[in-house]
Amino acid sequence: MSSSTAEKYSFETGVYRPPSEGGNFSLLVRLTRNCPWNRCGFCSMYKSEKFEVRSVAQIKQDIDAMAFICNDLSEISHRLGHGGQMTRDTVMELFNKAPELNYHQGLSMLFQWFAAGGKTVFLQDANSLIMKTDDLVQVLQYLRKTFPSIERVTTYARSKTISRKSLDELTAIEQAGLNRLHVGLETGDDGLLKIIKKGVTAQGHIKGGQKALEAGFQLSEYWMPGLGGKKFWKDHATNTAKVLNAINPHYIRSRPFYALPGTPLHEQVQAETLELQSPNELLTELKLTMQTLDVTSKVCFDHAGNYWKNRQGDLLLSHSYEGYQFPNEKQVVLDLIEQGLAARNRRPIIRNL
Ligand code: SF4
Repeated sequence: MSSSTAEKYSFETGVYRPPSEGGNFSLLVRLTRNCPWNRCGFCSMYKSEKFEVRSVAQIKQDIDAMAFICNDLSEISHRLGHGGQMTRDTVMELFNKAPELNYHQGLSMLFQWFAAGGKTVFLQDANSLIMKTDDLVQVLQYLRKTFPSIERVTTYARSKTISRKSLDELTAIEQAGLNRLHVGLETGDDGLLKIIKKGVTAQGHIKGGQKALEAGFQLSEYWMPGLGGKKFWKDHATNTAKVLNAINPHYIRSRPFYALPGTPLHEQVQAETLELQSPNELLTELKLTMQTLDVTSKVCFDHAGNYWKNRQGDLLLSHSYEGYQFPNEKQVVLDLIEQGLAARNRRPIIRNL
């Protein structure tokens, strides 16, 4: 591959994205590197990494490179008589043309996205809204113009960052084509928010969530069952449900707490100042959270950490990205939790993150 071709094929891909974006084969476009907050006590994702905002020019170059590869794939597929389909020989011919692509960390993501119709995009890394509004709008417009097949663009955002933008700014970003925000709520309990160093209060979460909705975003809020351990589980369950009730987001997603080695909360577990619940105690907490929820959201258990099984040994709760529509399916979820409680679950040894 000549150096100019190598440049044209070069783009950067981050590591993390929500489960729903992986399952939908989203295109990962990296706007920033790592996390500007980087203090949450349960999180190990970017701990030793420095936060950086990438320039609009760099991001546009990445988008151009991805478009260049997709155009090449399409041309090869049509020439081989596959009508634009992503077949093995199409991909092999691209590799023959540019063997270096074999080692490109984002290439399989790009193939999958393209083969799936190029519909959804996730902007990386941990908090894209931290970008200047004008820059973010420029990137979104460029992305949408380059890939007209895109139907949905989503990203992670912190409640506090959402609150700091004016409603006009948020609306401009939404109008430019950012459809959905994934927010890490974790808990609605002020005491726990302090312990985990989330950098926001329950009221701050409500303000950020309500503002995102007012600006027209779809909103997906993640919370962490188990974060309060044996001591604070009741406050965690009820206060989280109350905050979610006040926001009433489109999606509520369960991402159960797991004490990751190397994190402050893992040290608390080791020191026995944080006592983890058994699987059935966690289900009891989940039951209280569900009972207290009064929302019209979709409640989802699409993270691998929702491991509970029923008596038959099957997954207790659906891992569907669209989850259970509340309030209609609230009783369905509560009945399933009762089944799980009767099944005497065991804590899994290995868990996907
Ligand atoms: S804001 Fe997100 S990525 Fe950053 S430290 Fe907290 S959980 Fe980790």
